[in-house]
Amino acid sequence: MVKYLIVMFLCLLSACSKPQLTYRDPEDFQFKDVQFSWPTLPGTEDFSWNYIHGFRPSKNHLFGFDKHPNPALGSEEDAVTHLSIEENYPGSFYVFINPDMSDKREGGYTFALCKLQDLNEWRTVAEDENGFQEETIVTDYPEGKNVDSLGLCKYHLENSYLIEKMYVHSYKKKEYPLLISSLGQNTDPARFIFSKQMWNAAANVYAQAGISFNFYGYDITLYIEDTYGNKHKISYILSTVKNADTSCYRRMDDIFEAEENVAKHLDSLGISRSVLSLNLPTKEMWTLIYDDRGNVQVCGTPEIDPATVTWPGVELKIPASVGDSFTSKEIRRNGSFWEIQDSTKKWVRATKKNVNVNTTVMMNMAEQNVDPQYVKGHISETALGVTNFRYKKNNNSKYPYDAAIALIPWQKGKTARVILHEMGHLLGLQDALDLLSRKDSLSEQGNLMYFQYQNGTLLRERKMKIQNIEREERQWDCLQRIDEQNSCSDQDILHFNFGE
Ligand SMILES: [Zn+2]
Repeated sequence: MVKYLIVMFLCLLSACSKPQLTYRDPEDFQFKDVQFSWPTLPGTEDFSWNYIHGFRPSKNHLFGFDKHPNPALGSEEDAVTHLSIEENYPGSFYVFINPDMSDKREGGYTFALCKLQDLNEWRTVAEDENGFQEETIVTDYPEGKNVDSLGLCKYHLENSYLIEKMYVHSYKKKEYPLLISSLGQNTDPARFIFSKQMWNAAANVYAQAGISFNFYGYDITLYIEDTYGNKHKISYILSTVKNADTSCYRRMDDIFEAEENVAKHLDSLGISRSVLSLNLPTKEMWTLIYDDRGNVQVCGTPEIDPATVTWPGVELKIPASVGDSFTSKEIRRNGSFWEIQDSTKKWVRATKKNVNVNTTVMMNMAEQNVDPQYVKGHISETALGVTNFRYKKNNNSKYPYDAAIALIPWQKGKTARVILHEMGHLLGLQDALDLLSRKDSLSEQGNLMYFQYQNGTLLRERKMKIQNIEREERQWDCLQRIDEQNSCSDQDILHFNFGE
């Protein structure tokens, strides 16, 4: 039996307090206040609803509202609006009756929220002069998939017409533990990863599916040891310059070590998900080969010719020695060859005899912000990030993953959007193709998991097509782990998530 309570009644009991959209401070550090403003992304377009009667989102609603922004005529599924509510908290939405539409003006019609079974009136709609009435409902339906439902009906004489359906999903609050970790500078606003602003935004986005987080914090410091046994703090990461020949890429051990480190820390906490922000500068590097005569040459066809790097120039370096200068050696171009200095400071040709190309790279000594190409993976026009699932070493384990880590290089305010998206992957969501038009994807109606633009932050309950695979998922239900066979598309990730 489904119950709707009128909000006035509920407010007496709970004073209409906000549901728990707050983070919980971990014990070992405090969240920071940073100068951080939510960026308007380039290419974002305004969205406005059409002028026909129907449900509209309310700013007072703290959970999910999923209405198709551009419904296909006659599509049963497009005509349904989904509303999520955290169990026993009020949710709200607007009912819009267009005062200019002829059927209204000519009179004789009344509008009401109705019961779907028989289209009988449940509550009349007394819209204001602009056609809006705000409705607040509460449901104590215990953890819903398909759910409480109501409709917007129009009545004339003996006839009743269903204009739009609404499914109300009442979710129990679900809390996921999350490690937020940082490698590199702890300056503001790069400390956005530990900021109240960031995680309040995340709380609001994931509240759409009744999800909240229990945070742990971790500042990583990585060290490398030099040939004299001295430890040096890692102060930058390496980025391979884009190259037409992919065999010229080299594994970047510093990132790998950072992930290992996070995975170990996750293990010690007994949890499995982390967002790792990289607030380190990068240095570009080129891998080297020998030509037919044993002379050192740059591998492949790099996008940037190292011979054109003038300040502070390029040097030879052992890539394992990240963050230090003790193995640096100057190198310069001379005609079609490269030269280094011998022990008497005399410039000599770099060859098989004096340079081991298997252990040495050429490096741009200038520091850049972390380069988009560095993390590869999930890249859009506006931002980037990647989520890696680390396989369990124990093959007998029931679950295929033991850690999911989202890597986020600091790219100013845009980064925050990408964190929200990568968190979706951490929790089992896939990149969505978005059933909506490209235009709507560029507006605030865009899906958070849309693979191309992170303009919108909507999570939806209507089925979203998945990028690259023939599957669909309902994002709210997926995050809630309801109906795991049908609602989440990647069964491996699901196993992992259920395994916690
Ligand atoms: Zn993605």
